[in-house]
Amino acid sequence: MYEGVKAAAVHNPSSLAELVLLRNRLPGALLWAGGTAIMSKTRLYPASDGIDIIYLGNVQELKRISRSERYLEIGSQVSIEQILRVGQHILHPVFAGACRESGPYVIRSQATIGGSLSLEDYSLNIPTALSVLESQVEIRNPENKKPSTQWIPVHRMFSRNRERSRLQPAIITRVRIQLEEGDFEFFNTVGEPYLNPDEAVILSVFAKYNLPAISEYRFALSFPLYGIFRSREIETAVSINDLPFEQRDISRIIRSLREDLQESSFPISPLQRERACRVFEYALHRMNSQSIK
Ligand SMILES: Cc1cc2nc3c(=O)[nH]c(=O)nc-3n(C[C@H](O)[C@H](O)[C@H](O)COP(=O)(O)OP(=O)(O)OC[C@H]3O[C@@H](n4cnc5c(N)ncnc54)[C@H](O)[C@@H]3O)c2cc1C
Repeated sequence: MYEGVKAAAVHNPSSLAELVLLRNRLPGALLWAGGTAIMSKTRLYPASDGIDIIYLGNVQELKRISRSERYLEIGSQVSIEQILRVGQHILHPVFAGACRESGPYVIRSQATIGGSLSLEDYSLNIPTALSVLESQVEIRNPENKKPSTQWIPVHRMFSRNRERSRLQPAIITRVRIQLEEGDFEFFNTVGEPYLNPDEAVILSVFAKYNLPAISEYRFALSFPLYGIFRSREIETAVSINDLPFEQRDISRIIRSLREDLQESSFPISPLQRERACRVFEYALHRMNSQSIK
């Protein structure tokens, strides 16, 4: 071993109870899910701090997928590829799109849904899609005297990236996704969210309509370094229109979005703002063409 370098101790719990006890004892240890984000950081291994590692891959309770009439529940250790295998007829198109575009196959087959929701510095595809599906994340906080679970809406966790660090050292255990069907769902990325997070934009949309009226319109725009932007006002500005939209309505909505982004506290670049407005406009046109088919 090199001088000054300490090997990490790797802990390998096989049940949730064991994991919670271990986390309580080692709140500073690194939780290792698929390891794809951890391994892509420049921190070299072995390192001088020799931080302890808790490997989550053998905790059986975290590897389950279950379905009820209203929800799909996915354990945090389920990989993105396993989710895609659950099938198109169960997965929301917006969520399936987010999973399919979460990096190359070799990453998707290792990366877990829990890991994608725990990246401290980025808000990427999966949280953006889950935000519009009003999904919830189950958190175990081993710091509480009586280990308790808490359900948190994904969109609240990601409204600003910095808010997520407050969840440390909690463990994400499950994700609950409503199975309510949308009439229009859209997922798109502009740029490369993981490789160029300061320039990329991710958009998810979930809408319901009964022609010509729109009964529900939800969107989430992610600026990967800063968090996810949502706006009730813009959602209302879209849903008060009948389908198909007229060009002047679309122009008015995009003007409001541009103003809101300019006034928001997200320190985005002019390029990101332009990309956000254009992809949002594209989604409105897609919804239009779907509605007149
Ligand atoms: C080359 C490459 C390209 C990529 N491209 C994309 C892309 O285009 N779009 C996209 O969305 N993503 C992309 N990704 C990111 C990928 O989605 C993440 O690497 C992945 O989701 C992380 O999951 P993981 O299981 O490997 O997490 P890990 O790397 O194991 O962990 C990530 C972080 O989450 C913490 N953590 C993990 N599980 C839990 C838990 N259950 N509770 C609490 N904390 C936890 C870990 O401690 C760590 O801090 C890319 C990654 C790579 C390496």
